[in-house]
Amino acid sequence: MSIIKTSENLSEEQKKENESLDLFLSTQTVIKEALNKLGYSNELFELLKEPLRMLTVRIPVKMDDGTVKVFTGYRSQHNDAVGPTKGGVRFHPEVNEKEVKALSIWMSLKCGITDLPYGGGKGGIICDPRVMSFGELERLSRGYVRAISQIVGPTKDIPAPDMYTNSQIMAWMMDEYSRLREFDSPGFITGKPIVLGGSQGRETATARGVTICIEEAGKKKGIDLLGARIIIQGFGNAGSFLAKFMHNAGAMVIGISDANGALYDPKGLDIDYLIDRRDSFGTVTNLFTNVITNQELLEKECDILVPAAISNQITAQNAHRIKASIVVEAANGPTTLEATKILDERGVLLVPDILASAGGVTVSYFEWVQNNQGYYWSEEEVVEKLRKVMIDSFENIYQTAQVYKVDMRLAAYMVGIKKSAEASSFRGWV
Ligand code: GLU
Repeated sequence: MSIIKTSENLSEEQKKENESLDLFLSTQTVIKEALNKLGYSNELFELLKEPLRMLTVRIPVKMDDGTVKVFTGYRSQHNDAVGPTKGGVRFHPEVNEKEVKALSIWMSLKCGITDLPYGGGKGGIICDPRVMSFGELERLSRGYVRAISQIVGPTKDIPAPDMYTNSQIMAWMMDEYSRLREFDSPGFITGKPIVLGGSQGRETATARGVTICIEEAGKKKGIDLLGARIIIQGFGNAGSFLAKFMHNAGAMVIGISDANGALYDPKGLDIDYLIDRRDSFGTVTNLFTNVITNQELLEKECDILVPAAISNQITAQNAHRIKASIVVEAANGPTTLEATKILDERGVLLVPDILASAGGVTVSYFEWVQNNQGYYWSEEEVVEKLRKVMIDSFENIYQTAQVYKVDMRLAAYMVGIKKSAEASSFRGWV
């Protein structure tokens, strides 16, 4: 007798694989729609619907207990017509091929939106860095670089941090690459520590980019940040820096959450205290008893809602109950396509993920430029340049949405895919 798998008896891994397949298919759907709207041929869709290259590697690592564990890693390069590919490497137990592919397409879109001279790339290793020692993580990082070294490099494909990877991991990877090539190669990877050629402002770049999007969206909706009520779902790197920036701008952060639950106080939360007490994975709600669920938090009364945690949070089920008039997606894929339509019909201004989270790769580009020229900028210069890129990108997408009468997500895909489409045609590929 065959066992029919319903969503209840699927393992966590299988559920995640289904989710990644959905993410990949919905990305392709919107790319097709965007290319159609722009009047491009179906051949361009055939070229851009999948990455040009996907490398799967197996990485043997000596563990601290003397055993050898073999990890699986990926590097996907979506399209390099515009220039070298660019994008982060995530270390996570639920990394899978479809997710890495979809996210590499997203990186092409982000680079198109911000007008950077890159195509999109993405990498990942199936592992749980939370249970690995420093030494094990170092050996894994170096092993990954050796395994993918043929297809990466400062003028080919430039990795960066992503989920559960940080500047220390970038430093090991840069060192390994430099040893292989026998010359110092800071431009091989971005998100490095400052002493190794990292850029001022890179660590806070994603949160700063989201902040600028919130300000611009506020102007469109007539919401002043001073006194605005904000809920942020997620308290990791982006979420916690964002809470701080919002607090500093005079906004009232009335809700935050982590993987275990959420805190909500309509009178405003003590952000400095919460940041001080969070651990390095962004957990803080375990210190409180008055915790509500993440789903409850999303539906609370507020002006601006920022999902900065995981995907599929705003769906057709709860989109009608979202009270915010602005939703800014700081996470990857927090709103489903059906929910996007519902929010748009309800007049909620949605700032899509591929725009809102583009601050990270923008400052990575600045880091790479500084590495290439060997001349370094102050934090003020970086922030000023980032501000200009984000404001121009926001305005371009907002205007595209108005002119073509489409929602902000489709407008972002149109702006994002145009450069790869044009560059591929000019090169004579299609
Ligand atoms: N991982 C980040 C992203 O998804 C940053 C990529 C980069 O800096 O190249 O946008």
